Amino acid sequence: MASDTGCSQSTAPRPILIYLATTNAHKVSEFQALADATGGGLQMSAASPMPAVPEDTGTFIGNARQKARAVQSFLPKTAWVLADDSGVCVDALGGAPGVESAYFAGPHHDSTANLNKLTAVMQAVPLGQRGASFQCVLVLLGPDGSEYVAEGRCDGTLRLTPVGGHGFGYDPLFEPTGYTKTYAELDQLTKNNISHRGRAWSKLIAQWR
Ligand code: IMP
Repeated sequence: MASDTGCSQSTAPRPILIYLATTNAHKVSEFQALADATGGGLQMSAASPMPAVPEDTGTFIGNARQKARAVQSFLPKTAWVLADDSGVCVDALGGAPGVESAYFAGPHHDSTANLNKLTAVMQAVPLGQRGASFQCVLVLLGPDGSEYVAEGRCDGTLRLTPVGGHGFGYDPLFEPTGYTKTYAELDQLTKNNISHRGRAWSKLIAQWR
């Protein structure tokens, strides 16, 4: 994963609004909840229209940076932009789908198909070898060319059967270490407290504030 070190610090005034380089409403909701918990009245808004950005760098940080830069290029010069690239890395699959998590079942970015494929693939993997981690890299770009980078990770195991109605993506299959519920059975606040995204956010804010 990427280094947590911010690449360049900024003295630009901290904004009230941060644009998110995503079309994923679940991510927007999670980030707004994280911002609310941070305080300061920070508002998170999905950049619109979100351009189609190729996720072809092979790394979380490369893809996140690419998304953030693409969005920053069409926003007002004063804008701050945050991009997230994330995925589930499965031990028994040598870390796959990882950076390809959104496209595991094909190029159409079909979350249900992705979840079904991972569920099917994992049926042959014995209990005790079902370790996995969610990983996330955040890239925050400032109007003065500054860049802040942070990573977060949450370890756990994959269930045999998806359970739970909260969250998105692979949440119903992933049981974080120390819990007896899947991500999808946890409410958003609890997930954010332990999740890959929540951990990356905490590190990012500590650098940025
Ligand atoms: P991205 O939007 O290109 O970063 O793709 C991330 C993909 O990883 C999503 O489409 C999901 O399949 C998966 N993913 C990332 N974060 C989560 C999460 O918090 N829960 C469930 N799946 C996630």
